[in-house]
Amino acid sequence: MEQVNIHLPDGAERTFPKGTTVGEIINQIGIQNGTVGAKVNGRLVDFWFEIDADADLAPIGAGTEEGLFFIRHTAAHIMAEAVQSLFPDAKVTIGPVIENGFYYDFEYSRGFTPEDLEKIEAKMKEIIDQKKPLTRREVTRESAISLFDEEGENYKVEIVNDLPEGEKITIYDQGEWHDLCRGPHAPSTGYVKAFKLLSTAGAYWRGDERNPMLQRIYGTAFWNNKDLKNYLNKLEEAKKRDHRKLGKELDLFSIQDETGAGLVLWHPKGSRVRRVIEDFWRDQHERYGYELLYTPHIAKIDLWKTSGHLEFYNENMYPRMEVENTEYQIKPMNCPFHIMIYKTAIRSYRDLPLRWAEIGTVYRYERSGVLHGLLRVRGFSQDDAHIFCRPDQIEDEVIGVLDLTLMFLKTFGFDDYEIYLSTRPEKYVGTEDGWDKATEALRRALESKGIEYEVDEGGGAFYGPKIDLKIKDVLGRAWQCSTVQVDFNLPERFDMSFIGEDNNRHRTIMIHRAIFGSMERFFGVLIEHYGGAFPTWLSPVQVRIATIGDEQNQYAEELYQKLKSENIRVEKDVRNEKLGLKVREAQLEKIPYLLVIGKKEMDNGTVAPRKLGGENMSPMTIDEFVNHIAIELNPEKWREVEQQ
Ligand SMILES: [Zn+2]
Ligand SMILES: [Zn+2]
Repeated sequence: MEQVNIHLPDGAERTFPKGTTVGEIINQIGIQNGTVGAKVNGRLVDFWFEIDADADLAPIGAGTEEGLFFIRHTAAHIMAEAVQSLFPDAKVTIGPVIENGFYYDFEYSRGFTPEDLEKIEAKMKEIIDQKKPLTRREVTRESAISLFDEEGENYKVEIVNDLPEGEKITIYDQGEWHDLCRGPHAPSTGYVKAFKLLSTAGAYWRGDERNPMLQRIYGTAFWNNKDLKNYLNKLEEAKKRDHRKLGKELDLFSIQDETGAGLVLWHPKGSRVRRVIEDFWRDQHERYGYELLYTPHIAKIDLWKTSGHLEFYNENMYPRMEVENTEYQIKPMNCPFHIMIYKTAIRSYRDLPLRWAEIGTVYRYERSGVLHGLLRVRGFSQDDAHIFCRPDQIEDEVIGVLDLTLMFLKTFGFDDYEIYLSTRPEKYVGTEDGWDKATEALRRALESKGIEYEVDEGGGAFYGPKIDLKIKDVLGRAWQCSTVQVDFNLPERFDMSFIGEDNNRHRTIMIHRAIFGSMERFFGVLIEHYGGAFPTWLSPVQVRIATIGDEQNQYAEELYQKLKSENIRVEKDVRNEKLGLKVREAQLEKIPYLLVIGKKEMDNGTVAPRKLGGENMSPMTIDEFVNHIAIELNPEKWREVEQQ
């Protein structure tokens, strides 16, 4: 019999007959209890996988991150069995593992209720307690179709019909119940020790709104109850911080049906925060050698032909409009406008680099199903900039962008990020040499800053290499915001050049970059990061004055005027209400400081500051108070106090 060599992680090598399953190997080499599956040549496989060639095999043990895939996929099957045993009319469709959990979509006449979920969970526990083995069998296309046809599982029939010719078709049995599946699975239902069904949603079959609406159930599973509990706590915390909920409670923004999906209305308080962010953004850009631009929202269609957007970006653009027999397009990007400004003059090598920045509002078509609060919208303002430079300036320019980016992120309270360098894909424009040099420049820029990064080999856009930066919020969630993208394409399309030292024309290098990504998205991330309790310098209302009785009204007005003259965003609460209520409301509105004034404070010419969170400070004069918070109002200094 033909033999295969199996290399184990400890360096040992064992020989087995060809076709031996992973399960048999694991049993024979006596790997510790709890092994849930294996990685064979880097691919996750279960005990049923047959080895037909020499391979590296690493068992995946209990408690491992990778093993969670097996556990969650098995939990999805258990849930589907439970649903069909409780609701025999429910039809199964698909049930994949997703980040942090799994779901399964059923065809059923109504949505599942919270009470249904409880029953399903109880049924799942029974199935788990039975420790039913999951066994795999290979079937022919015909027998799979007739099996699912007989059962009335028309979605499964459709899936089988769509499988490419020659693809192995496998069914996983757990007792009487089975599912069409490629695996991999845990060896038995007993492996699922800690799980929870989380929520329900409607979802179209294959994500297409012309198809029937299915009933989705989301769930998650972990190795143990402690991990599950931690995760559920984190979910709870994330729910409290949801920017859509806080945006409403704190009166920051709204998105309304009557205005249109994905179109953001910034309310006065949200606008105040945005204004503070934009002011800081503009000041710092000027300081870092950028010039600021304003450009229109629409442009003639010819511009988008030249830029290539019409050809390559059409599905993200809104329909055109006609004005005086000329077609116009609302802009999905700002880049072509900046290029048109570049082209109004002959640029010499001495003029470069040019750094041009704009908070430019763009509109992109997104399917209504993917829109999500401020994070995925149809109209948004990019904090955009383009750097036009010589090839030998790329590295310095990218270092400059990284400096500016890290400064911004630190200022806004983000200290952790993930950075990716994406390199040349298979299809690309520009020369190989140009790509290599630009990629090297990006790499050196990252290394000169001592920044750790991962390389996404071949993950670049077709027009140039890029650096992506994901910021991590307090809950450890990563958000894609900043990008630095070299572009070999647009300079070519627009024939952009500069006159070199040699008096010849040379192709200009264009770098696109955004730091926040968009004002909308960044605001959404900020709201969640701070749970709506912004640091004082960003807070829409920084100080509120609360009187204890009417006698202090005049004094309140004096303090109010004084703080206003210091450019502090201040409000006063002189209502004839109990102080307790005033305090509670200020807390709900997450105002950093409440200045309480009663008879004593008025007589002494002081205020009694109360911090958000409840700390009462000793009474002080209004000048002392202004002095006290000065550092918190300074974007460049405030983190010094925070860290004390
Ligand atoms: Zn499966
Ligand atoms: Zn651009």
